[in-house]
Amino acid sequence: MRKNIVAGNWKMNNDLTQTETLLDDLKTKTKTSNAEVMVAPTFTNLYQANKALESSGIEVVAQNMHFAEKGAYTGEISASMLKSIDVETVILGHSERREYFNETDEMLAKKVDAALANNLRVIFCFGEVLDDRKSGNHENVVGSQIKNALFHLEASAFENIVLAYEPVWAIGTGETASPEQAQDMHAFIRKTLNDKYGNEVADAVSILYGGSVKPGNAQEIFSKPDVDGGLIGGAALNADDFFAIVNAF
Ligand code: PGA
Repeated sequence: MRKNIVAGNWKMNNDLTQTETLLDDLKTKTKTSNAEVMVAPTFTNLYQANKALESSGIEVVAQNMHFAEKGAYTGEISASMLKSIDVETVILGHSERREYFNETDEMLAKKVDAALANNLRVIFCFGEVLDDRKSGNHENVVGSQIKNALFHLEASAFENIVLAYEPVWAIGTGETASPEQAQDMHAFIRKTLNDKYGNEVADAVSILYGGSVKPGNAQEIFSKPDVDGGLIGGAALNADDFFAIVNAF
C-alpha cells in the first residue's frame, strides 16, 4: 500500500528561537493517524531541528539543494551536505523556486539525479498557474512538468520519489482546489505514470496535494482515493493546526 505523508514546508519562516519553540510544540503532539510526518525548516535550522526531533517520529527534510556536488556555487548547498547532517529527504521544484529562482524542468531533472545519486528521497513539486487552469491546459502543463524532469529515470527510482501536486493559484491564497479537482488531477498523474512505467510503479507512488490545506478542509481532500497526503505551507507553522492535518487521515 502507498504511504500517507503529511509534510510541513516552513519556507523562509522562523529564526532559530522561533524554530526551537515550534519544534518543542510539535513534540507535545500525538499522532493518531498512519501518516508519515515531515517538516522542512530553513537550511540554517536543519541541523538543530534534526537533533531536536530525534526519535520523535517526525522527519526533518530540506526545502531545496543544488545539483552540483561541490565547488564554486556561492550560496548553494549540495546533496551530500544534506546527507552529512542526516537529512534523508529534499523538496525539489516548488513553484516558488520555479517562479522566483528560475528553476526549469531541465535544472530540476539534474537536481533529481543528484539527490537520488546521494540516496536522498525526493518530494517533487509541480502544478499549473491560474491561466492554465482557466484555459483548460492544466493537464498538459502538469504532464510535461513530470515528463521533463522525471521520465529519464528508471522505474526503480520511483521508490524514492514522492510527487506533490500544488496548483500555483491555490498556494498561500486561501483558495483550495476542490477535493474533486485534486482527485481528477491526481488520477491523471497516476495514469501518466502508468502509461510510462506500468501499474506497479503508478500504484506505489504517493501523490500529495498542496495549496491552502487547513484543518477544516484536510479530511475531505485526504479522503479522495488518489490523494496520499499533503504538503502544507502556512498551516504547518502552528503545531496544533499541523497536527490536526496530520490526524485528518
Ligand atoms: P500553503 O502552501 O499551504 O500556504 O498554501 C503550500 C506550499 O507551498 O507547499
